[in-house]
Amino acid sequence: MSQTEAQKSAQAARRASGGGKAAQDRASAKYRASAKGKAARARANARYQASPEGLAHRTRYAASTERKAARAKHRVTPVGKFQVFEINQRYNYGLSRDQYDTLVISQSGLCAGCALQLIECHTDHCHKTGAVRGLLCPGCNFAAGFLLDDPDRCDSLAEYLRNAA
Ligand SMILES: [Zn+2]
Repeated sequence: MSQTEAQKSAQAARRASGGGKAAQDRASAKYRASAKGKAARARANARYQASPEGLAHRTRYAASTERKAARAKHRVTPVGKFQVFEINQRYNYGLSRDQYDTLVISQSGLCAGCALQLIECHTDHCHKTGAVRGLLCPGCNFAAGFLLDDPDRCDSLAEYLRNAA
């Protein structure tokens, strides 16, 4: 079978680009990075997720004691703690790391309630709207919660404490 000019030049290009395997790997990587490649990967993933094999895999993975042990081990490392903190801020209060840092800086690292240095930060939020109000020390955060976020009750308690002293 004789080669066409196109086949010959494709072969020459493959040789020039460093041979079969390496060139193939580069072409694969390029395809995977392309929009078409990504879409194909997403379709294949969705098919797999919906398949009985995919479900079985997820179930096995979720129940894996090795995975749970590895996760527990990671969570107590500095990196793990930081990731857990970031995830909680984002999940519970919709705060990105940058937004959280901006909040700390805007309060000069002090509790928004009692103005003491924040050693442990509690992200205070409105329980009706979910909006973040500021960063509080644990004492102020618990006090606000126990007094049902009612400023009049806080005033009344302060008054009582002043008079009782
Ligand atoms: Zn405080």
